[in-house]
Amino acid sequence: MLLAKSRYCGLFLVFMGWQQAVATEKPAADQESQLHATAHPAADSARPSYPAKPFVYPNGARNAVSLTFDDGLASQVQFAVPMLEKYQVKATFYVLPFHVSQQVKAWREAAQAGQEIGNHTNAHTCTGNFHWLRKSNQGLEQVDLDFIRSDIERSQQYIQRTLGVTPKQFAFPCGNTFVGRGRQTQSYVPLVADMFETARTWNDETGNDPRYADFAQLTGLRMDGLSFNELRELLENERETDKWLVLAGHEVGSRGVMTTDLKALEQLIQYLQDPKNGYWLAPVGEVSSYIKQQRADN
Ligand SMILES: [Zn+2]
Repeated sequence: MLLAKSRYCGLFLVFMGWQQAVATEKPAADQESQLHATAHPAADSARPSYPAKPFVYPNGARNAVSLTFDDGLASQVQFAVPMLEKYQVKATFYVLPFHVSQQVKAWREAAQAGQEIGNHTNAHTCTGNFHWLRKSNQGLEQVDLDFIRSDIERSQQYIQRTLGVTPKQFAFPCGNTFVGRGRQTQSYVPLVADMFETARTWNDETGNDPRYADFAQLTGLRMDGLSFNELRELLENERETDKWLVLAGHEVGSRGVMTTDLKALEQLIQYLQDPKNGYWLAPVGEVSSYIKQQRADN
C-alpha cells in the first residue's frame, strides 16, 4: 500500500515538473500550440513501446553470450583452451604479460588457433586498497592517465611481439575505470575508447543492451565459483531481454571464489551450443562487430 502510494506521488511529481517546465518557458501563442502538438505526452501514444522490436542475432538466437577470461593464467591454457577447442568455441582472453611469459608457447598456439587475445594492462593497476599495489605506488589513486596509457601500450607491444597478434579488446583490471582520488579523480574510459574496439568491466549486475551498451564499458558477469545450474540461472535472469551477456572468469579447474569450474564450463558450452536454447556463443570482437553493423544498418 505504502509502495503504491509513493509510486503515485513520484508520478505526480514528474507530471508537475513537466507542467512547470512548459509554464516557465512561456512560448508565443503560435509556438505554444506547436510545442504542445509535439511535446504533450498524449502525442507520444503512437510511439512503439520499448524495446521497439527484438534485436536480431545470427541464426535467430535470442541472446548473445561471450566467454572471457582475465589475467592470462596458466590454468586457462592448460584446461580452458583444450575444452574450447574440443567444442570449436572461441573465447576472449585478456592477458597480462607476466603470466604469458610463463607459458609463451601455449599462448602463442592459442592465439594462432584463433582464440581472441585482449589487453589487460601490464601492471594490473587497480585500487590501492590492495596493499600489494599500494606498496609499489601503483594503486589507481596514486597514478595518472600518462601512467595508465604507457602501461597499456607496454602490454600491447609485448603481446604483438610475443604472440603475433594485436589486441583490439581491453578489460579493466578489477573493473576499475578511474585514476586519482576525490575531486582530482579522472576516468580512463576515454583513453581506452581511443585505443580499443571494446572494453569490459567486471562484477556487474546486468548484461549489455545491444541497442544501447557503450562498447567502452561493456558489463562483465562473474563466472567464477558457479555451478552449471547457477550459470544457467544467471543466463535465465536475462532471458526476457535480448541482451549480450559477457561472462568473466579467472583460474579454471575445481570451483572456487576466483576459479571457473571446468566441468560446469563444459556443460555450459554444450548448453549454449544446443540450438533449441537460442544462444549465439562468440568471442567479444565478433559479437561487438556484429552489433555495430546492426546499429549502422538500422
Ligand atoms: Zn585481472
